[in-house]
Amino acid sequence: EQKEELTAQELADKGFKGHGMLAPFTAGWQTTDLHPLVIERSEGSYVYDTNGRKYLDSLAGLWCTALGGNEPRLVEAANKQLSTLPFYHSFWNRTTKPSLDLAKELLEMFTARKMGKAFFTNSGSEANDTQVKLVWYYNNALGRPNKKKFIARSKSYHGSTLIAASLSGLPALHQKFDLPVSFVLHTDCPHYWRFHLPGETEEEFATRLADNLEKLILKEGPETIAAFIAEPVMGAGGVIPPPATYFEKVQAVVKKYDILFIADEVICAFGRLGTMFGCDKYGIKPDLVSIAKALSSGYLPIGAVLVSPEISEVIHAQSSKLGAFSHGFTYSGHPVSCAVALEALKIYKERNIVEQVQKLSPRFQDGLKAFSDSPIIGEIRGTGLIIGTEFTDNKSPNDLFPPEWVVVMFQITHRNTVFEKLEVSLQIKLPRNTSDVCVFQAWAVVRIYTVYKIVTNINDFAGVG
Ligand code: PLP
Repeated sequence: EQKEELTAQELADKGFKGHGMLAPFTAGWQTTDLHPLVIERSEGSYVYDTNGRKYLDSLAGLWCTALGGNEPRLVEAANKQLSTLPFYHSFWNRTTKPSLDLAKELLEMFTARKMGKAFFTNSGSEANDTQVKLVWYYNNALGRPNKKKFIARSKSYHGSTLIAASLSGLPALHQKFDLPVSFVLHTDCPHYWRFHLPGETEEEFATRLADNLEKLILKEGPETIAAFIAEPVMGAGGVIPPPATYFEKVQAVVKKYDILFIADEVICAFGRLGTMFGCDKYGIKPDLVSIAKALSSGYLPIGAVLVSPEISEVIHAQSSKLGAFSHGFTYSGHPVSCAVALEALKIYKERNIVEQVQKLSPRFQDGLKAFSDSPIIGEIRGTGLIIGTEFTDNKSPNDLFPPEWVVVMFQITHRNTVFEKLEVSLQIKLPRNTSDVCVFQAWAVVRIYTVYKIVTNINDFAGVG
């Protein structure tokens, strides 16, 4: 529903001048000419536009504002740090207390396996780019400079910088950019519903995918493959939890060929799946981990790479021979971002975020999965507080609606007193121009609205805190 859309002139009058910034993931330059929705403030799980209109922020910003829109403790932590030490760098063996404390905290929190060092970035994409350089440096240090290739998965999302976009398995990120770069390969997307063969069980599907991964490694030569990267649950590619036994089998394959495992926890970390990290849920024992987003509850940009002691020790020991690991950003370990992240982690623990997700997720998952019988829904899938819906014709994975027709995302925004409300909303991308498509559009909207209503009513009725 569009009430009064502000004209470009009205927006300009309000001070929103075209600033020539490229709008991420849209087709043009972000200027007032495109009538963007301008969000002005946030409160809990809601955001408000410049007309004062209220929206449920169902995507939690971009899967990041885990503590909602106005957590005073995060603001206080930022203010306190800003007024003490707004900036100092982390180069040449200098650093700051918040950065050191955050590293220590993260290394303690990640228990799927022991991690030795943390490296800070400003984003998830930078974390994944950093992974590639770390792995290359490590392999150079071990005298195997040709072990350089990375295997990622089709439909994965790892970010937008050149290397992170290459690792991603989404064609839109590659087309017209000459990507992926040559050292990145892609293996199967582990989406059972969409890609299993007739009669194949989840376990058999997982075995087939692990076999295909092994075939790819053997075809390329195991001595050339450096690392495998995976999100515990694929997020932006369509919320795809792994099929049963998948990670167990895939880990066995990469281990067999001395290939490192990188867990991209940028979306899954900090409770979203009902475990502190996605690795905890699926028994993943990674060599390297990428985190970002909810690390600061999205309040300030920060990402991190956690590095196993085996890798960090080799890098450290060899740096006198190979030269320092020459990589870092001006804002790596920014003290204000680190102070906010430290406070966010403290709140996650104090408010038992993992337990809260576990408590809420059955209602969220079962409530939405109850709509699986709908003729336009092929699959509703998810775990914890992440869920995705596949719209199809005839309930068949072979009759997907074209991607430009419908994109629907259900998402909960975690709230501070935690989850006093189960909140769901939808992001819908619908087709343009054709009239029969408009009929479908209206129908889909009604259905979606019904789902939304029922879910929110369930919430009101149950009133679970
Ligand atoms: N990895 C995953 C799994 C993500 O979902 C994202 C962003 O959505 C990224 C990496 C990139 O993070 P950023 O946008 O902070 O660069």
